[in-house]
Amino acid sequence: QLVLGIESSCDETGIALYHQERRLLAHALFTQAAMHSEYGGVVPELASRDHVRRALPLIRQTLEQADCQLTDLDAIAYTRGPGLSGALLVGASIGCALGYALDIPVIGVHHLEGHLLSPLLADPAPEFPFIALLVSGGHTQLMRVDGIGQYTLLGETLDDAAGEAFDKSAKLLGLSYPGGPELANLAALGMPGRFKLPRPMLHSGDLEFSFSGLKTAVLTLTKQHELDEQTRADIAHAAQAAIVEVLVSKALFALKQTGLKQLVIAGGVGANQLLRSQLNAAATRKGIQVFYPALEFCTDNGAMIAFAGALRLRQQEPQVGYAFDIKPRWDLQQIS
Ligand code: ATP
Ligand code: MG
Ligand code: FE
Repeated sequence: QLVLGIESSCDETGIALYHQERRLLAHALFTQAAMHSEYGGVVPELASRDHVRRALPLIRQTLEQADCQLTDLDAIAYTRGPGLSGALLVGASIGCALGYALDIPVIGVHHLEGHLLSPLLADPAPEFPFIALLVSGGHTQLMRVDGIGQYTLLGETLDDAAGEAFDKSAKLLGLSYPGGPELANLAALGMPGRFKLPRPMLHSGDLEFSFSGLKTAVLTLTKQHELDEQTRADIAHAAQAAIVEVLVSKALFALKQTGLKQLVIAGGVGANQLLRSQLNAAATRKGIQVFYPALEFCTDNGAMIAFAGALRLRQQEPQVGYAFDIKPRWDLQQIS
């Protein structure tokens, strides 16, 4: 079974080929970040139009890389939601049109299920059940995962996502969109301890998060101080330290509460090196195991969609026909 995956939920066009036995054969990604950075965030209409331009050339490129042809495909998986409507429509229509032309099954994949299962692409892979910390640009959730489609939400952010906290803090420091990785780089030059930012909900005794207050605290610091190079780095350091400490502490709390020993990190913020090193240190201390996707599969990509689609096709019927309805808002708990 050879599955073509198409991701187009936001500002990345991701394409991949996943084979049930031979695993990931090839993948390609085009990120529109440079185009959107001029506007300080994703412009939906521009995103859709660019997906139209990129998708087919990337599909050709990926097929060539894997030395495959369109006619070798057995199924197509596309991101059905959640995400930007116009952007989702591009991937869905290309996926369904190709499926119709090739007369093969198509399946609409939940974008967050893609993120959530992406650590299973790595080696060693975690085994069910595990705790997943999903930390992306739009979501911050702790989930208990008992199998494909068996997701129990344990806690989530009440306001901003962790990635959003990175991006908004970065913007206040004059970094370009998406600021997460740049903020992390700047933080490496920062002086530990010069600024101390709040750790929202750290001792709330539950698994909920809140990051909007942090952004306000960063704003206050930027107003109180002359923003020379060192001060910007010191603020970045404090912001990253605050976000990471809360994430680590809540993830460990989820393991403690459930008695599980495996933690899986998924989503763009999972690429953060401070988060990884603190989790690894905690893992050694507490006798738990932490699993990450490969760095390139933390942020949006086609591989996770092809992979989740392949797993789904093993346990459920593909969609009936080639009409599609995308789901810009779609709760992961609703799918099973
Ligand atoms: P969602 O999946 O919730 O719809 P999304 O697809 O936009 O949101 P991802 O692509 O998973 O989110 O991740 C993007 C986010 O990850 C951005 O907020 C970005 O700043 C952040 N990010 C990426 N790399 C790093 C890093 N090294 N450190 C911190 N944040 C990072
Ligand atoms: Mg993105
Ligand atoms: Fe994503």
